[in-house]
This record gives sequence, C-alpha cells and structure tokens, in this order.
Amino acid sequence: MIAIIGGSGVDEITDMAESIEKKIVDTEYGSVQVSLFEIEGKEVVFLPRHSEGHTCPPHKINFKANIMALKELGVSQILATNAVGSVDLEIGPGSIVIPDDFLDFTVNRDRTFYDDDVVHIDMSEPYCNRLRNALLENSDCVNGGLVDGGTHICTEGPRFETPSEIRMFKMIGGTVVGMTTLPEAVLAREKEMCYASIAIVSNYCTSIAKHKLGVEEIIEIMAVKKEELISLLFNTIKNLPVDYDCECHHALGDAEF
Ligand SMILES: [Zn+2]
Repeated sequence: MIAIIGGSGVDEITDMAESIEKKIVDTEYGSVQVSLFEIEGKEVVFLPRHSEGHTCPPHKINFKANIMALKELGVSQILATNAVGSVDLEIGPGSIVIPDDFLDFTVNRDRTFYDDDVVHIDMSEPYCNRLRNALLENSDCVNGGLVDGGTHICTEGPRFETPSEIRMFKMIGGTVVGMTTLPEAVLAREKEMCYASIAIVSNYCTSIAKHKLGVEEIIEIMAVKKEELISLLFNTIKNLPVDYDCECHHALGDAEF
C-alpha cells in the first residue's frame, strides 16, 4: 500500500477516486483518521498530517501514531508533502523541492520508536532515493521550478524564524525551512518504510527577499501549484511498482523487535 501524508489541499487527490473509505486506525500511540482509496488499481491511503480540518499545529502532531497507523495498514512507501519557506533567492515561491537531506532543529518531539532498545538507524540517505527518483521521473506535469535535491531544515515552530536563524540556516547549507518533515522521515525509516518529501515553497524566509509576497499573491501561486502537485502524486503512484525491494525495508538489519 502507498501512503500520502499531506496538509490541506492535497486531500483533493481523493476526488479522483471512485470511492473512498474513511477509517480510524487505533494504535498504541493514539488514533488516526485516514482515507482509503485506489489510484489505477493501487491501494492508497491519505493521512491528513494536521488531522481532519487542519486543526493540529506542527509541534503537536502525533507523528508516532501517524507512522504506526500506516505501518499497521500495510503501507510500504510514503509520499509526504511539506509547506516550506526558501532561504535561496534562486528557489522562489511556487518551487517544488525534492530534498535529499535534512537538518533537525526540532527540540521537543517524540522522535524514536526505540526509547528502550539500542537501535541506530543509518541516515546516509535520509530520504529514499528510489522514491525521490520516481517523483522526478513523473514530474513532467510540473511547470518549472522543480529542484532535485536540497537540505530541508525542520524547526520546532509554531513561530517563524528570526533573521539571525535564517542567516545561520543559509550558512550551514539549508535550502528550505519547514516544521513537519521531522521526526516523520526518521520514524518511517525506523519502521522500514520508504519515505520521500515534496517540499512546496510558499514564500521566502524572513530577510531573504527585499519584497516578501503578500497573502493574496501566495494564495494565487499555491492554487496553481496545488494542481501540479496533485498530478505529480497521481502520476508517480500510477507508475510506482508495488512488488519491489529497497534498502529502507532493511533499515533495522537483523535486529528483531
Ligand atoms: Zn526506499
């Protein structure tokens, strides 16, 4: 099964399905509401990261319940969408970045399933390169502004960053800044699922651009990009293999838990 974890707007991909089944998945970490549907005969689950109606702020998301629910449903590959700001003038609002690395600046999140076991997950390739390549190969529907690779900096939020923080993030190699890819990407790896992120740039981070876009300009850009994003997800899922092997599926090695 393939999962999409996304914010508001991305759920419109379920409109393409003939039928949708809403389901509550109860896990030891909490209950999660998901929508089950099919794309071209493939089983897909949509998980609204911020809960139904976008009611949960980023620093309160129950990431462990979300990832565990997907694992229990039999998900093996996750395509996540994340709204981000850009620290790079060349990567403007409306760009879609497929990051290949991250920097973790979260401070207060429950970030591992292995609090009581000695488990060290390899992070040489923080996002699944097989899934990243699948997204890139199916990105003809994206009309410019697609960036292959980049470092996704994840902050705790809910406040935005200060000018000094953004200067630092730029200096240490950050590309985009968001609040939602972590610990999600790590927890997915701990559960041996493939995980790739599609980071949608909604604006420049503070102090990066002389002219910061207004709310209306942002809404306009994001409306166009939302259509492209949904096509990108649809085309990728349509062409994703279901029977496959990937390093992500062996992240724990021979450890038994
Ligand atoms: Zn993988």
